[in-house]
Amino acid sequence: MSTKTKIVIVGGGFGGLAAAKALKNMFAEITLIDRANHHLFQPLLYQVATSVLTPGQIATPIRTILRKQKNTTVILGEVTGIDKERKCVFVSDADREGVPVAYDYLILATGATHSYFGHNEFAEYAPGMKSLADAVASRNKILEAFEQAEAEEDPSRHRDLLTFILVGAGPTGVEMAGALAVLVRNVLKSEFRRIDPTSARIVLVDMAPRVLTPFSEKLSKAAKQRLEKLGVEVRLGHSVDQIDAHGIVVAGERIASNTVIWTAGVAPSPAGKWLKTETDRAGRVRIQKDLTVPDHPEIFVVGDTASFEENGKPLPGVAQVAMQQGRYAAKLIHSRMTGTPPPGPFSYFDKGSMAVVGKGFAVLQSGKVQVSGFGAWLTWAFVHLQFLATSSLRLGVFLQWVWTYVTGQRGSRLIVNHHGSEPRGAAERQVAKPAA
Ligand SMILES: Cc1cc2nc3c(=O)[nH]c(=O)nc-3n(C[C@H](O)[C@H](O)[C@H](O)COP(=O)(O)OP(=O)(O)OC[C@H]3O[C@@H](n4cnc5c(N)ncnc54)[C@H](O)[C@@H]3O)c2cc1C
Repeated sequence: MSTKTKIVIVGGGFGGLAAAKALKNMFAEITLIDRANHHLFQPLLYQVATSVLTPGQIATPIRTILRKQKNTTVILGEVTGIDKERKCVFVSDADREGVPVAYDYLILATGATHSYFGHNEFAEYAPGMKSLADAVASRNKILEAFEQAEAEEDPSRHRDLLTFILVGAGPTGVEMAGALAVLVRNVLKSEFRRIDPTSARIVLVDMAPRVLTPFSEKLSKAAKQRLEKLGVEVRLGHSVDQIDAHGIVVAGERIASNTVIWTAGVAPSPAGKWLKTETDRAGRVRIQKDLTVPDHPEIFVVGDTASFEENGKPLPGVAQVAMQQGRYAAKLIHSRMTGTPPPGPFSYFDKGSMAVVGKGFAVLQSGKVQVSGFGAWLTWAFVHLQFLATSSLRLGVFLQWVWTYVTGQRGSRLIVNHHGSEPRGAAERQVAKPAA
């Protein structure tokens, strides 16, 4: 029988992976469970959706990342519950349900998904941007809109087909709107005969009074001006009342569109429900200063699914918070296992925030530094390359960016229906046949 301490990490995203790596030299039996087989670099999802990068350039199998870490086993499975008294998590995989996996220490890093602010009916018409499948679905939707418009003889239909709406003007919405504008104005312009891709309308909508609310007003203004220069219509101060098959309704006005993409709110994983513990209003688990759950010093919750206040404000849902918390949890477990003095309470070191707006322009805020323009964009590119999971990804993405910057060509403009479905409309035509 093994006498090794069992450490279970749920989630191989930024927080879980940082924790696993920080435990690599521990004499322990570490099990990392994730429902996806890959670690996903979410900050670049919008580049897959806008055809700059391929899915394989922003994700790596977790098993590959941890291949040299002999004390860690990677399991592909979905955690569906936790028994705090028996100290086990329940895991379902392709052919088994609720298999108990025991732990001495548990690190929950299950992240967040998108939230439709109580309007789950929007999901059918406005896919979110959280997984690789979401990004590929958005890419399909965008490219299909151009194909449909080219095939459509009636020019009065072109405007609706070529109207793209992004709901949410946070970093994802702004980055996506900028990249979409570059795609339609520069990349596609010479490839169609019946339509003019540069006439495409891109509308960015948010209820907030300004774009990029986590940034200063000055940078927010610079980002908005840049978007407008790229031809993006920015509509602020009104929430979306309706989203359906024909478009959206905002501030009483209907904007017809076949392509609406949701880049707004996030909702945490159900970790709080599994633990039956206190959560904040958004449903994130309220954790203590050492990132553990009250009365359970063996359970840590980190990253987007945790609620941690510093200076009276909750920490933002960003990769740096998740990584620093993952490393802290590992350090505390190490100190408990080795009997060395524990680290002090967790404290977040904010290195700053960045967002790209189209080609060669970004905004950067770090402490008192607030800059926008090409220099900020170079810094953004350098930092993002650094944080990609493997050196092959770093090299591949770097070369793709240089190629795209110089030639304007994109990495992948394929419409891929992963479910092997027939081309859009084929099913409907078949249903319609007998009646005809
Ligand atoms: C489109 C987008 C753009 C972003 N851009 C930026 C940015 O530019 N800068 C930045 O700092 N942050 C950005 N973020 C936020 C950042 O990605 C998150 O803050 C970060 O990923 C949080 O890390 P995490 O470990 O908590 O969760 P994640 O990285 O989301 O990892 C959670 C993991 O848990 C797994 N999981 C979830 N539930 C289960 C379950 N029940 N069983 C098993 N496994 C499960 C998931 O498969 C996933 O691998 C962005 C997020 C998105 C969606």
